[in-house]
Amino acid sequence: MSSALTRDALEAFWMPFTANRQFKNQPRLLARAEGMHYWTPDGRKVLDGCAGLWCVNAGHGRKEITAAVAEQMATLDYAPAFQMGHPVGFELANRLVKLMPGDLDHVFFTNSGSESVDTALKIAVGYHRLTGNASRQRLIGREKGYHGVGFGGISVGGLAGNRKYFDSMLLNTDHLRHTLDLEHNAFTRGLPEWGAHLADDLERLVTLHDASTIAAVIVEPMAGSAGVILPPKGYLQKLRAICDKYGILLIFDEVITGFGRLGTPFGAQYFDVMPDIITTAKGLTNGAIPMGAVFVRKQLYDAFMQGPDGIEFFHGYTYSAHPAACAAGLATQEIYEREGLLTRGAELSKAFEDAVHSLRSAPNVIDVRNLGLVAGIELQSRPGAPIGARGYEALVKCFEKGILIRTTGDTIALSPPLIISTAQIDELVTRLGEVLKTIA
Ligand code: PMP
Repeated sequence: MSSALTRDALEAFWMPFTANRQFKNQPRLLARAEGMHYWTPDGRKVLDGCAGLWCVNAGHGRKEITAAVAEQMATLDYAPAFQMGHPVGFELANRLVKLMPGDLDHVFFTNSGSESVDTALKIAVGYHRLTGNASRQRLIGREKGYHGVGFGGISVGGLAGNRKYFDSMLLNTDHLRHTLDLEHNAFTRGLPEWGAHLADDLERLVTLHDASTIAAVIVEPMAGSAGVILPPKGYLQKLRAICDKYGILLIFDEVITGFGRLGTPFGAQYFDVMPDIITTAKGLTNGAIPMGAVFVRKQLYDAFMQGPDGIEFFHGYTYSAHPAACAAGLATQEIYEREGLLTRGAELSKAFEDAVHSLRSAPNVIDVRNLGLVAGIELQSRPGAPIGARGYEALVKCFEKGILIRTTGDTIALSPPLIISTAQIDELVTRLGEVLKTIA
C-alpha cells in the first residue's frame, strides 16, 4: 500500500461516491498540494488534471488565501448571519455581484453546491407564491443533469445513479431531454451545431403540465458531472425564449462553469443568456473552504422585500456567510482579478482544444468534447463489463502515471486549474494518451 495508513485505519471513514472496499484494496492518497500538483504520502508528484474536483481554479496552496483565513479566524472566528451581520460577509457579497451579468445583484450564501441548488429551487417557488402564482410549483430539470445530492437536487437531476435508490422524492418535477448526441455531434470542437431544437422539449412539458404549474427550469449551461455535455449552438437562447413566453424562471447551475472555467466569469456571459438565478460553489473559494452562493435578479429579491421591512425568507444555514469562508472568497477573488484567471481560459482554449482532440485516434475513444478549459473524452464501454469499468481503469492507471483525472462512467473529464501552462496541457494530454494505449 502506497501510504503510511494501515488497512484498518481506512475503515471508519465512509467515503462519498466511493466503493469503499474497492478503495481499501487500492488506496489512492493525496497528502500535499502546491500549484498544479499534488503529492502522495510517499512523495510521488501528480499533475492535477481536474482542479481537485473542478474547484481549485487558482491552483493549490495559495498563500494569500491561507493568510486571509488565518487572520479572519483570529479576528472573528464565527458570527451568525441570522438577524446579525459581519463586515466580511457584506464585503464579499458586494464584490461578487459586480462579476455578475445584468441585474443578478443579490446573493444568498450557502456551504456547497447542493445547498445552493436547493436554495435556488425554494427561491423560485417562493417567488411565484409571493407574486400571486402559487400554483407554479413544478420544477423542471434535464436528463443527465447533476445538481448535487439534496432531495431537491436529485429530484431535478437526471443521473440514474443518483436517483435509483431515492427516486424522485420531490413531487412535481419533470425533465427535458439531454443534448448528448454522438450520431450528429461526435468530435465537435467547441459547441455542437446540431441540436438547438432540443430546447423545444420544454414546449412539450408545457403542453403536458400547463405553464401555470411550472415554477422554473434548472440546467447546467454545460453539464459537467454527466461527462461534459455541451449545449448545441442556440439551445440556451431558445430555452430562455420559451421560459419568457410562459413566465417560467430559468436557473443556471454554474457550480462548475462559474469562476472562469469557460473563459468568462460565468457561463451566462459565455453564452450571452441571462438566467434569473445562478447557483455557484467550488471556485468561489478556490475549493479551500466550503462555500456556495446563489445569485438572484432584482425582481426576485424585490418580491421578498415587499412592505417596509421585507418578508423573512425562512431559510438559511448556521454557516451561511461563515467569516472564514468569506475571507477565503475575498482572497480568491483578489487572485482571480490580479492574475486575470477568469478570462485566462479563453486564451488557452485553442491550445487545450488542439491537445485534447489529438486523443481522437487513441484506442476506444468514441468522442472528444471541449469548451474553455474543460474537456470530455468518452471511451467505448467495455463489452460485457459494467459501464464505467474502462473509465475506472483509466483513472487508476492515470494516477499511477502521475495525473489526476475525473471519470463519469466511461467518460474522462479534464478541467485543470486555470493557471495551467501550455507545456503542462501537453504533458497532461500526452500522459493520458499513453495510458489509453495500455487499456484493452
Ligand atoms: N451542481 C453542479 C452543477 C455540480 O457540478 C455539483 C458538484 N459537482 C453540485 C451541484 C453539487 O455541489 P456540492 O458537491 O458542493 O454539493
